[in-house]
Amino acid sequence: MTDCIFCRIIRGELPATRVYEDADVLAFMDIFPLRRGHVLVIPREHQVQLHQLSPEVRGRLIDTGARIAQALYASSLQPAAAHFAINDGPAAQQSVPHVHLHVLPRYAGDGGRFLLRLLRKPFDLALGPAAAGGLEADAAAIRAALAKIDGH
Ligand code: AMP
Ligand code: ZN
Repeated sequence: MTDCIFCRIIRGELPATRVYEDADVLAFMDIFPLRRGHVLVIPREHQVQLHQLSPEVRGRLIDTGARIAQALYASSLQPAAAHFAINDGPAAQQSVPHVHLHVLPRYAGDGGRFLLRLLRKPFDLALGPAAAGGLEADAAAIRAALAKIDGH
């Protein structure tokens, strides 16, 4: 058992605003979103880097990220595009040593604000999750869109 923060979220020991979960993966809102609707997808299994996952779990991770993006596009958030990003090791700015796929929505004309958020990130991390308040409403919108995509 590891005390990694994402493993603790998986075990329910730390709170998270969950968007989707199944036997292989969990998706939840990033507590310091770089843009509105920023979601992290993680494997249940603790591994640090992408190549350490089995091809099956890797496939589930990427597929889930793609479906989350599809749900974001269909949701009331209506981003124009998204980044899919994995920081694959500490030297690549990986701050949590458990594989995570960022699904980071982009909105028309948000370039300036996006850059500002990136630069502010170290201060946000130091100050704590001030922005966490609106996460549940956005998660609910994404969950509703996912349910429609899945035909529920
Ligand atoms: P990275 O820099 O790729 O390791 O990204 C780690 C991400 O995890 C950052 O975007 C953080 O905002 C996010 N994060 C850290 N702790 C938590 C948490 N307890 N719940 C949700 N997201 C978190
Ligand atoms: Zn872990």
